[in-house]
Amino acid sequence: ILKDKVALVTGSTSGIGLAIARSLAAEGARVMLHGFGDREANLQLKDELAALSNDCAGFSEADLADPEAIDGLVAQCTDELGSPSILVNNAGVQHVAPITDFPPEKWDWIMAVNLSAVFHTTRLCLPSMRQRGFGRIINTASAHSIVASPNKAPYVAAKHGVAGFTKAVALETAREGITVNCISPGYVWTTLVENQIPDTMKARNMTREQVMNDVLLAAQPTKRFVEPVEVAALALFLCRPEAGSITGANLSMDGGWTAQ
Ligand code: NAD
Repeated sequence: ILKDKVALVTGSTSGIGLAIARSLAAEGARVMLHGFGDREANLQLKDELAALSNDCAGFSEADLADPEAIDGLVAQCTDELGSPSILVNNAGVQHVAPITDFPPEKWDWIMAVNLSAVFHTTRLCLPSMRQRGFGRIINTASAHSIVASPNKAPYVAAKHGVAGFTKAVALETAREGITVNCISPGYVWTTLVENQIPDTMKARNMTREQVMNDVLLAAQPTKRFVEPVEVAALALFLCRPEAGSITGANLSMDGGWTAQ
C-alpha cells in the first residue's frame, strides 16, 4: 500500500522506530533509516529495508540536537529517495533526576531531541507534502504526554509539547490531505527496558517477574509490555487512505495506564 512513498523515520536504528521502519518498508515504502549505534549493523539494517522495497533505502546518523544536521537529514532523504510523504518523528532521549538536581544541559538536550527536532523536521517536510496533497506525520509521544511521573520533568514537558504541537499542525493542514497525529505508548518492550531488569533484580532482591510487574509495569493495568510491532501496526494504519480523517489525535497504546 505504500509503493512510491518515501518515509523518513527518525530514531529508527532500534526499538519502536526500527519496527515502524520495517513495517513501512514491508508495504513498499522507500525508508530513510536514521539514528545512532553500530554503523556496520545499521548499514545491514538499511540493506534489509532496501531488500523489502525495490532496493531503495537510505541511512543517516544526523544528530537531532543540531538543527543544521536536521536540514542535512531532510536534504539527504530528498536527494537519495525523494521528498518524504511520511514523516515519523520517533527519536527520543531520557534522563531521570529530581528537578533541583537536573543538569540544565540535559534539559536543553531533551528539549532539542524530543521536541525542537519535531518542529524542524515538520517545517522542512511540509512544503512538499502540501505540493503533493498528501502527507502523514506521526509523532511518537508517550503516556507521559498525558500524565506525569516524578523525576522526569523535562521528558514529560517535551512529550506534552509534542502532543500540543501535533494538534496545532493538524489544524493548519486539515484541508490539504495531510494528517498529523501522535501515538502514545506506555512501557514498550525494547532492549533499553530489558537491560534494566537484571540490575533492578539485584538492587531490590526481586525475581524477574516481580521487577516486571511491581516496578516497571506498576502503572500499566495489562501488566504486559507493549510490543514495538504493535506500535508499528498503528503507525502503518495511520498511513492508509482509510485513516484520512484521523488527525490531531493522541492515540494511546498504554495497556490502560492513562485510563486510571
Ligand atoms: P531506543 O533508545 O530503542 O531508540 C531511540 C532511537 O533514537 C535510536 O535509534 C537512537 O539512535 C535515536 N536517537 C537518540 N538520540 C538521537 C539524536 N540526538 N539524534 C539522532 N538519533 C537519536 O528507544 P525506544 O524505546 O524505541 O523509543 C523511541 C521513542 O518512543 C522515543 O521518542 C521514546 O520517548 C518513545 N517512548 C518509548 C517508550 C518505551 O517504553 N520504550 C514508551 C513511551 C514512549
